[in-house]
Amino acid sequence: MRTVNRPLPKKVKAEVFLSLCIELIGLQNSALLFGAKAQEALQKVIEKRLTKVLQASFHSQTPIGTDNKCSDRNVQHRLAWSEGHVQLSVSAPKAQLHEAIVQELIQTIVSQLQKPIKVPGQALRLECQPRIGYHLGQDLSFEKASFALRIAPPQKQSQHYSERSRKALVSRLQRENEMRQGLRRGEFVSYFQPKIDPRNNEVVGAEALVRWQHPTEGLLMPKDFLDVAEQSSLICDISQAVAKQTVALLIRLQKQAKVVPIAINLSEQDLRVPELIEQTGSLLKKHGLSPRLINLEVSERVASMNEDDVADFIRAVQQEGFSLALDDFGTAYSGLLRLLQLPISEIKVDRLFLVKAAASSQGRDILHSLVTMLLDQNYRVTVEGVEKRWELELLQAMPGCFAQGFYFSPAVNAKTFQSLSQAC
Ligand code: C2E
Ligand code: MG
Ligand code: MG
Repeated sequence: MRTVNRPLPKKVKAEVFLSLCIELIGLQNSALLFGAKAQEALQKVIEKRLTKVLQASFHSQTPIGTDNKCSDRNVQHRLAWSEGHVQLSVSAPKAQLHEAIVQELIQTIVSQLQKPIKVPGQALRLECQPRIGYHLGQDLSFEKASFALRIAPPQKQSQHYSERSRKALVSRLQRENEMRQGLRRGEFVSYFQPKIDPRNNEVVGAEALVRWQHPTEGLLMPKDFLDVAEQSSLICDISQAVAKQTVALLIRLQKQAKVVPIAINLSEQDLRVPELIEQTGSLLKKHGLSPRLINLEVSERVASMNEDDVADFIRAVQQEGFSLALDDFGTAYSGLLRLLQLPISEIKVDRLFLVKAAASSQGRDILHSLVTMLLDQNYRVTVEGVEKRWELELLQAMPGCFAQGFYFSPAVNAKTFQSLSQAC
């Protein structure tokens, strides 16, 4: 760590401390790229710019770019480098250092650091995108500032530290831990919601929906734990468990009179892990089951994913012979053209369209036109969230479309689904 300027002297009666951790995106690895001397020179430019910003900010008559010293003796600052990040601390009386001033200071720092920097000895100018984590309080803490930087959403240029976000992260980590234990203990179980042909109420398929049989909190729904799982790799372990339980149910159904295809929901992370597809494919083969019995549901978010990741996923899906369904159709608006280029065989129309159909005849017309258009394009169509008799009747007027919803049945455990699917 290289420290410049004087350390904050103890005798100064500082009332508040500002700790900033500045990440310089675009200037990383400069020693490796241009040599140690060039890195030192680049750092000096950064230090000079930051010192000028501080001088100007705490002595308003002094414009940035002049060599005046900071005239206010009550304001002290210190600058150091740590693993490519700048650690900047300021101490000042409360009246001179509060949130509004910090915001202004950060904006000035960002605009100064964004100015291109010439690499010494090279015909090269580097552009830098600074991101800043900060902590303003009674204590000086770069750990808090760097924590703020760590949790800042990628699109945010600055983020302040808060106890709330620290506690939220701790409880998320605890929840992840609990989920890991739950997975080992087999607490994640698949429930199955039947898919119905509205013309004769026959069960034509099902969708696996995961539940967490929590030891103290009871049966938890995806909304209670999926977010946390999706922020870590746990979602892939959950998908593995759901896929295995789904194949196990298909094996049992095959032994009975009737076996129907079952859909599995995939999250964005699952699409980047082809093992899930390959392992499920091998498991089906081992038991002599057709890959047509597994349907993979992806959300519209797939349209905004990296094209190479999507292409690898599609290759794996086609190799195993699975079919793809587009879930929650109509809830996002981006990338429709890209979506329609994917080898999707089924579209699951979101309940939103039934809600609109209840509100007006225009809503009913939209649903009717949408379903008819998708059927004409040879998609299989399932309307989700059928709750009422009149909603079913609406779909009966669109021959060829399937339905799913509480009107027929919620998701039920494997045993109940087994008897339900044989009955209809
Ligand atoms: P989804 O895939 O769109 O699943 C349909 C959701 O609608 C399910 O909620 C289902 O219980 C609910 N639903 C079914 N019929 C009706 C109805 O008539 N009215 C209403 N209002 N809702 C109905 P659930 O089980 O809470 O799942 C919510 C979402 O969580 C799913 O939406 C899916 O995106 C996700 N999810 C569920 N299981 C898994 C899983 O194993 N893996 C992944 N990655 N996501 C899953
Ligand atoms: Mg689904
Ligand atoms: Mg859906």
